[in-house]
Amino acid sequence: MARNLWADIHLDAITHNYRLAKAQAPGARACAIIKADAYGHGAVAVARHLDREADAFGVACIEEALELREAGIVSPILLLEGFFEASELPAILSHQLWTAIHALHQIDALEAFAQEKGDLGGMAVWLKVDSGMHRLGLEPTSLATALARVKALPGVGEVVVMSHFASADEPDPNPTVGQLGVMDDILALHDGAVSLSNSAAVMVWPQAHWQWLRPGVMLYGGSPFGMAQPIADQLQPAMTLSTEIIAVRQVEAGECVGYGGTYRCQQPTRIGTLAVGYADGYSRHAPNGTPVYLSTGYATLAGRVSMDMVTIDLNAHPEAQPGDRVELWGRHVSVNDVARLCGTIPYTLLSGLTRRVKRRYL
Ligand SMILES: *Cc1c(COP(=O)(O)O)cnc(C)c1O
Repeated sequence: MARNLWADIHLDAITHNYRLAKAQAPGARACAIIKADAYGHGAVAVARHLDREADAFGVACIEEALELREAGIVSPILLLEGFFEASELPAILSHQLWTAIHALHQIDALEAFAQEKGDLGGMAVWLKVDSGMHRLGLEPTSLATALARVKALPGVGEVVVMSHFASADEPDPNPTVGQLGVMDDILALHDGAVSLSNSAAVMVWPQAHWQWLRPGVMLYGGSPFGMAQPIADQLQPAMTLSTEIIAVRQVEAGECVGYGGTYRCQQPTRIGTLAVGYADGYSRHAPNGTPVYLSTGYATLAGRVSMDMVTIDLNAHPEAQPGDRVELWGRHVSVNDVARLCGTIPYTLLSGLTRRVKRRYL
């Protein structure tokens, strides 16, 4: 008698997508980005599934990393923003995490810690440079000194230079070309590994592949591009969000459906009500006409998304009845398309699913 709203996670699709990412850059390693609970797919389950295959996992903070270690994940785990406070360093060392460094004060803290411990036990350090996004990272002019300091830390592991693109998913190549130019100058200083590529760059910027990829949204079948793209089109959706019809009614022509009456029936309309709403993470910005998929084919949203329910036009589905399953996104309705209709990106839809949505692993 439970509310029948499910996010089915297709773990094999995540493997397929991870391999597709690595196939773009033979010889490169790939840090599978599973921050934000693996973009809503469940970080522990995704990491368990990829633990033997992934070269490393990337998370946003130590809380996310420790959840994985407590679940028995043994692969390297990189803190993409490094540590926020020096007090995290003992746990980073004891749980064998890798840290990014994006500011000089983090180097000060790491030096003091290394001095105290005498040995960093092979901790890899990813030095992040601001090559033009201007969000996080060392100034290019301070990289030479920073690199020398990090490489001199006792017991430091692999030192990777990383940077992040602002616009690798945009049709205009100029911002990315500019960032690559900044990196080219910097890389004269560093003979070790380099990591620049998020999903978009994995797919469309081979010049940016270097030694370490950082695919995120593509692992889940999400596309960073607002349009078709040959590699993105080979991704498999890793989540099917589905629910059931909980009510069906006949509404007369001229009547309106839902909050604000934004949908007016042009003809007598069979309206189905679904058990999903914005408190589950189904965006309130989904407009009238957004597709959903029934076993008998597509239907469309009719009326505003409310907190716990949405309404759809069932005129093309005379047999549909309460209890029938409806896909909100997955293999028939692309989350990328739903995101575009909502004026957002698949990242926010996937990572925005709330605790009310039960995950089920297939
Ligand atoms: C989130 C993140 C990624 C992954 O980005 P996608 O666009 O999801 O592939 C890569 N690198 C860093 C530093 C990130 O924070």
